[in-house]
Amino acid sequence: MKLIFIGPPGSGKGTQAVRLEREAGIIQLSTGDMLRAAVASGSAIGQQAKSIMEAGELVSDAIIVQMIQDRIAQPDCKKGFILDGFPRTIAQAEALDVMLTDQDSHLDGVIEFQVDETILVKRIAGRFTCKQCGEGYNDFLKPPAVDGVCDICGSTEFKRRADDNTETVKTRLDAYRAQTEPLLPYYREKGLMMSVDAMNSIELVSKELDSLLLQCQASA
Ligand code: AMP
Repeated sequence: MKLIFIGPPGSGKGTQAVRLEREAGIIQLSTGDMLRAAVASGSAIGQQAKSIMEAGELVSDAIIVQMIQDRIAQPDCKKGFILDGFPRTIAQAEALDVMLTDQDSHLDGVIEFQVDETILVKRIAGRFTCKQCGEGYNDFLKPPAVDGVCDICGSTEFKRRADDNTETVKTRLDAYRAQTEPLLPYYREKGLMMSVDAMNSIELVSKELDSLLLQCQASA
């Protein structure tokens, strides 16, 4: 299955995409993760993207489209993937359509993570992940059972994203509203849009999503 998860930062797309990769083996392709890896490695793309990401703005379509084009051409993406954080602009969506048509392929569905913006700042400003296994936590909503120790792997080392702070979140939300929300009518017209209530707990969102994916699979 080839799916897109769309939603503002903090809506839980990444959490669900990582879970589905772990539980169902559907590859998660996060352009944010790819860019953070590029920044960490000091590559040319990373050097260009670093300050843009820190400001909460969008990296250029040309860079992002090339990155995704290279990635989905890899053999492990043949069977399917979840795009998490891509496309974020109409130009990216159009480029994706061309890539998939060229591969004689198509999207199976686009899932919107619907969430009330008032809770996003708390979700984002409080979040951190285990350095070792990548498990996600939140100071307010999901602290580890034992303070400072990862529930999953026992590591005591955690990391926070440079752009997960109150000031940058506002710019990221503005970018989402101005540049990414127009994708909703774009995919609605193609008959691909579905949604989950992302205000619910992780467990409830997981259930709702799993049943949507079953429907999607049945009609694929
Ligand atoms: P994310 O991890 O998806 O929240 O992305 C973190 C940051 O990476 C964003 O705020 C953007 O600066 C950049 N980024 C990630 N994906 C894209 C994309 N599809 N288009 C443009 N910029 C992106």
